[in-house]
Amino acid sequence: MIRRTAPFAAKGNTDLDNWSIEKSKDLYGIGTWGSGFFDVNASGNVMVTPFGAKGPNVDVLELVRDLQERGIRVPMLIRFPDITKARIELIGNCFAKAIQDNNYKGAYRGVYPIKVNQQRHLVEELIKFGQANRLGLEAGSKPELLVVLAMMNTPDALIICNGFKDAEYIETAILSQKLGRNTIIVVDRASELPMIIAAAKKFNTRPKIGLRAKLHSRGAGKWVDSTGDRSKFGLTPLEIVECVETLKKEEMLDCLELLHFHIGSQIPSISSVKGSLKEGTRFYTELHLMGARPKFIDVGGGLGVDYDGSGVTDSSINYSEQEYANDVVSIVQSVCDERGVPHPDIVTEAGRALVAHHSLLVFNVLGLNEVQKKELMFQASKDDHRVIQELQYVYEQLNDKNLHEFYHDVMHIKETTLQLFTFGVLSLTQRAKIEHMSWVILTRMEQLAWAGGADSEDLAKALQDLLSDTYFCNFSVFQSMPDSWAVGQLFPVMPIHRLTEEPTRKAILVDLTCDSDGKIGQFIDAATGSKAKKTALEVHSVDPSTPYYMGVFLVGAYQEILGDLHNLFGDTDAVHITITNAGYTVDHVVEGDTVTEVLSYVQYQRPELIEGIRRASEHSILKGTITKAEARLLMRHYEEGLSGYTYLEEQE
Ligand SMILES: *Cc1c(COP(=O)(O)O)cnc(C)c1O
Repeated sequence: MIRRTAPFAAKGNTDLDNWSIEKSKDLYGIGTWGSGFFDVNASGNVMVTPFGAKGPNVDVLELVRDLQERGIRVPMLIRFPDITKARIELIGNCFAKAIQDNNYKGAYRGVYPIKVNQQRHLVEELIKFGQANRLGLEAGSKPELLVVLAMMNTPDALIICNGFKDAEYIETAILSQKLGRNTIIVVDRASELPMIIAAAKKFNTRPKIGLRAKLHSRGAGKWVDSTGDRSKFGLTPLEIVECVETLKKEEMLDCLELLHFHIGSQIPSISSVKGSLKEGTRFYTELHLMGARPKFIDVGGGLGVDYDGSGVTDSSINYSEQEYANDVVSIVQSVCDERGVPHPDIVTEAGRALVAHHSLLVFNVLGLNEVQKKELMFQASKDDHRVIQELQYVYEQLNDKNLHEFYHDVMHIKETTLQLFTFGVLSLTQRAKIEHMSWVILTRMEQLAWAGGADSEDLAKALQDLLSDTYFCNFSVFQSMPDSWAVGQLFPVMPIHRLTEEPTRKAILVDLTCDSDGKIGQFIDAATGSKAKKTALEVHSVDPSTPYYMGVFLVGAYQEILGDLHNLFGDTDAVHITITNAGYTVDHVVEGDTVTEVLSYVQYQRPELIEGIRRASEHSILKGTITKAEARLLMRHYEEGLSGYTYLEEQE
């Protein structure tokens, strides 16, 4: 048990008259995307509140400092099992309420698709917290099936088998039924049914079979290709009819227990959910009319997460979890009632919606590149190039009347400077002067443009982008938030402390990789709540002596397993933190990759590398180009480097 220590005093100017915690909360939108799990405390630090505003909470900055004392390094991924539990309960309760309100006769059966995040401790937590609701697991591949079969110990919980299957996959799934597992094999492609029938005969079992329908109704959002006529998985109407005929012929129609469909992830709009539910439920009722008696309708995943709080973008959703549950239950009910078919148990495969909220990445800012320049460091002299004289004139004469004209002049000068330099007309010193003067003038122009109101708003925005700082951050976009790069998904990003202070700078955040895509350059525009995304984030000025920590929120779904080793940045340290009335407990520490580990993934073995350096050292000692003491130091650095973190480590 760890006791929380006294709050850290906020550094810098805490001018409470001009700025407030409320303003910070509005600026970063924590009240919208936070779903009640995140808030800002009186010290101006982000806090985690899994039990709502009145329950116990934890100050994230204190937590990070405390974890650092135990040797856990930034960037670090912090998981909060309490949030996972709250999400399981929320979604379960929404369905329970919808079932009760509609007087629906079937039950709700949640299933977690482990592809969303297979991390063992998380899966164990999901099973534990989901026991009361009989939360099941879904596997989409052979390795996932092997995990699911070993981990699932909730009696009667469903194990759903999707994805590409070979005979080994199918036989393993069928044999697991003999261990008492409630395994349902979903026929995703027509060729799988004969394999299932053959395996059932071989082991003399009645397999539990599901059919996945390929819906015509298309989803919406970034993952729209999961459905529609050309989607990878699912059976066409003709194939479904043929499967039913085959099962009849084999006297196995009673084995058909489930109808499945899945319309893609992060469905932004409730109308797409509704359309596909109607079509999918019609498949279900038709199976009944053909003589089958499936017990389950599995409506797949897709329940979205509100990553930006806007309600209008693809990173957001325009419905609540309760609305989703109400629509699923009432549509299945009405289509079944119309056809006189009994209400099935409803299975959902919500993955993202269960786990996205539970984890948070914290990294430190290593330094910055300031573009804005407030003061001119010199005056143009007669010896300076004509261009510099021109800039001096613009600097002296600039006002709100000539703002637009001078802006175009300066931009033109910036372009011609490059040409003049390339052709050898301008020296490097002269070019440096021009650049400095241009930034000073553009900085002043931005202020004038904002002050100019609607007339110069476009110019103000263009200047803001041009003048935003670059903050160098200790993390890898490719490892920790790959969807930000791959599909342009927005994640909430904000400083986790100093929120009593006004953030006076705007910045884009770049990561440690040598890839120009390794950056966050799109941010939630919480203030306008529109589709517009900000191209720079408000941040505090940082000085090298005091660490500045930022958080990326809602990274619990898909990001970890999709993350890759670009530039050999490995897994970050990760911790599981359970919040208690007296503070918190550190349940698990999962150390990130060492350099040795990531190198071994690309077949470099530590002993060989060390041996290579040792040989070169001996050779150089003999030649006299390095002393023995220096060689010993080099070897020590080399070996420590191999054992160390792949990210930059803070000085002790
Ligand atoms: C990926 C997947 C899911 C999970 O989707 P979410 O949007 O994360 O809820 C569910 N079912 C199937 C078949 C999937 O492939």
